[in-house]
Amino acid sequence: MNHMQAMLDEIYNEVLPLLGEGRVADYIPALAKVDPNQVGIAVCDLHGNTYTAGDANTAFSIQSISKLLTLVLGMEIYGDALWKCVDKEPSGQAFNSLIQLEMEHGIPRNPFINAGALKVCDMLYSRLATPKQRMKEMMCKLSGNAHVTCNHTVADSERMHGARSAAMAYLMKAFKNFDNDVDDVLDAYYFACALEMNCVDLAKAFLFLANQGKTLDAKHTILTTTQTKQVNALMATCGMYNQAGDFAYRVGLPGKSGVGGGIVAIIPNHLSICVWSPELNDTGNSLIGIEILERFTARIGKSIY
Ligand code: GLU
Repeated sequence: MNHMQAMLDEIYNEVLPLLGEGRVADYIPALAKVDPNQVGIAVCDLHGNTYTAGDANTAFSIQSISKLLTLVLGMEIYGDALWKCVDKEPSGQAFNSLIQLEMEHGIPRNPFINAGALKVCDMLYSRLATPKQRMKEMMCKLSGNAHVTCNHTVADSERMHGARSAAMAYLMKAFKNFDNDVDDVLDAYYFACALEMNCVDLAKAFLFLANQGKTLDAKHTILTTTQTKQVNALMATCGMYNQAGDFAYRVGLPGKSGVGGGIVAIIPNHLSICVWSPELNDTGNSLIGIEILERFTARIGKSIY
């Protein structure tokens, strides 16, 4: 059997005993209904190979992995002007924290915390006639799965419990760093979070980040080489909320997590990997997902450091 496939199977079997050690996100009630006993891994390399283990073909709520999508769209549309409204610094705070937003006059610390992603969505809303459509189309195009859909039950559930996100948007508005109607932008943000994709879709979708910004067939340049470096750097420093340091130490890759339990990580010039298991640790990242990635980089002997 292929070495990579054997490695994924081995890691999958090793982490199964950890099921039950984390907790499924329940602050969005619709997410709490997910079966916690699921673990998926998908790896896509630059030779066009895809390797999977476990529940790699089961769709899940991508949640904050969508912040990678909105950032890429924002960089495509605005280029460097994006950074006038969003900073690039790690926050060291929870993903939904409001503290720094007030201290820093309505400029979110980075595009991967909720406040930053909301600001990026606000900017997308200013330039795109149909932002939700564009987000979905981009995910379909990048993943090669024409059937990526939004789970409206999850989006509605988040809207019903979205007081903190609304508070962030209004705080940015008070600092004149939010241009559009708050409810309209929240609607687009919840839509992006509630997109459902599986590990294979997500590993394929973000393979361009391992390929200097180009799709594997080289037909499309999604980002320039420099922008690709920038996105990977932001993932490495800000992609795992206030566990960014621990993730760098243990895994050593740029990664972006979501409270649905997915994590996308990149080995530049080599491969993309998506892991998924719904139970989270205290920082809102997939407990088993991080364990898989730690074992993966240790065994493959590669990291960005
Ligand atoms: N939709 C979630 C929220 O805004 C995303 C959080 C996450 O995945 O980190 O709270």
